[in-house]
Amino acid sequence: MSSYNGKLIRLNLTTGKSQVEEIPRAWLKDFLGGRGLGVKYLYEELKPGVEPLSADNKVIMMMGPLGATTAMSVSRMALVTKSPLTGAVAKSVMGGSFGAFLKFAGYDGIIVEGESAKPVYLHIDKEGIHLLDAADLWGLDTQQTHQKLREKHGKSTQVACIGPAGENLVRYAVLISDLRCGGRTGVGTVLGAKKIKAFAVNSSGPLSLHDPDGFKKLAREIIEGLKTSPGRIKMSDFGTSYLTLGFEKVGIFPVKNFQEGRLEGVEKIGDEALANIKIKNDGCYGCMAKCGQVRQVSGGTYDGATSEGPDYETIWSLGGNLANTDIGALIAADSLCDKLGMDTVSAGNTIGFAYELYQRGIITKEDTDGLELNWGDPAPMMTLLEKIGSRQGFGRLLGEGTKRAAAKIGKGAEDYAIHIKGLELPAYEPRAVKGYGLILATSNIGASHMYGRPRDELAGKKDKLTEVDKGKDAASAESSQATQDSVIQCSFSPVTGFNAQQRSELLVAATGFKEFADPAYVEKIGERTLCLERCFNVREGFDRKDDTLPKRMRTEPLQNAGPATGQVFKNLDGLLDEYYDALGYTRNGIPSEAKLKELGLEGVAKDIEKFSK
Ligand code: SF4
Repeated sequence: MSSYNGKLIRLNLTTGKSQVEEIPRAWLKDFLGGRGLGVKYLYEELKPGVEPLSADNKVIMMMGPLGATTAMSVSRMALVTKSPLTGAVAKSVMGGSFGAFLKFAGYDGIIVEGESAKPVYLHIDKEGIHLLDAADLWGLDTQQTHQKLREKHGKSTQVACIGPAGENLVRYAVLISDLRCGGRTGVGTVLGAKKIKAFAVNSSGPLSLHDPDGFKKLAREIIEGLKTSPGRIKMSDFGTSYLTLGFEKVGIFPVKNFQEGRLEGVEKIGDEALANIKIKNDGCYGCMAKCGQVRQVSGGTYDGATSEGPDYETIWSLGGNLANTDIGALIAADSLCDKLGMDTVSAGNTIGFAYELYQRGIITKEDTDGLELNWGDPAPMMTLLEKIGSRQGFGRLLGEGTKRAAAKIGKGAEDYAIHIKGLELPAYEPRAVKGYGLILATSNIGASHMYGRPRDELAGKKDKLTEVDKGKDAASAESSQATQDSVIQCSFSPVTGFNAQQRSELLVAATGFKEFADPAYVEKIGERTLCLERCFNVREGFDRKDDTLPKRMRTEPLQNAGPATGQVFKNLDGLLDEYYDALGYTRNGIPSEAKLKELGLEGVAKDIEKFSK
């Protein structure tokens, strides 16, 4: 008996057929589940050079070994594909309840391949797996889609779907389950290109465990500890909004498209202000923290607007990045992005890029469909979000993301496109927190805040501004994140879940795999996953030249940013050397043969041989 079902659904949208297949046991042992297993499938099944929005790309939706159990904060779902923004490997982790119920239905994941000629959705119930017509769902927003599917299949139906942004191939579209997004890198866009609107499941378990009594005892102990945990309580009360004011003080919270680091009136969108309009908590299946904050605006232009959020990233992207401190507009914009099925970070970053081009006269009202893009004015942001989601007018260009939009605009616009490998930067100013900057630069999926967290640096235990001795920490933070994403353990689980020793004990009790008893073995799975992601990218032509930061961070002193004022990122090269050495990569950022052997990835060596010379 094991918490692994050991089976996945392979759905071919070109033929309209699905089949159930076994997951190789050795892959579970080496890659655990979630992101690790997703990356393994992607590496094995995707030929180099595949166009991300073609039928040849695949989306791998994978649960972890603890998903749907009574352990806390582990029922999330990893989404892995080749990104339409970066052309590199993409991973995103979606919350909600869909994944847990897929496990109850008897499957650990779904591989979506091919391309349908017409809109379809997948429905799974005790009668089987059905690919159904989605003509009446196409064009609906994500909330309407949830509602319609529940009307059809029953109130308890669990849903994951794309919105109009995914249908219209906005390059940063998401998959969304209830109000939890599989956010960055354009997974929703790939699904839109394949014309699959939604996944729906009706199931009720049960799930097997290797040692049910042992597991129950461990899970209970953890729950008892969480009841009084200050970290868990803070997440429940504020979500990640509590980060805003502290980060803004030290210049980490970027303002006006990363031109500055302090925001006048930031307290209007700070944690207390947002707590004042909170109406309830929401969150993922099996989580005591329920970090989602449902907030509602009362009065003013955006009266009645309600969203589950915004989190720290979105407070920045649709707020501080545009110098917008209008809390009503912030909630309304967050809600609009969720309904359209669009990543708030890339959307806000791309709009900030447009505001700066307007500030500098590189674009004018002629280019923006008549909109005046003035910092601090949220009204054009709302119009632009609508235009991006429906790919109309100027929104069509912004829906391509900053890298492609800048190339099209020309006239020096590239200097203001704040992305890495094509993925827009999140709410962390690299010049004010250098270890984080290194992680953003080296991330195999581009500039994601979910690729590793330099906890000591952010907590002030390590100087944020020095540019030496940070490569090892970055390597370890990225490996650790990869392990968490494979378990799958929420990124907040150091405060909302359990520690590494408890994780190992839970994994053994759930799966019966003795290897998992050693926390070092489990951690090594993260390093292996990270390395395989890098090999995927190497096969696509990525190397050291792509592990970089936007020109602004390397050449322009940061303005008005408290203790980080005047900072430039000067020693990226030195930090890259440290990082590659720590992971056993060559100085060109390519895994060495010895490292591949150590990680049991010898078979990959021949694929990247020609790039290693
Ligand atoms: S802490 Fe938040 S994101 Fe993490 S599992 Fe709980 S509800 Fe989901």
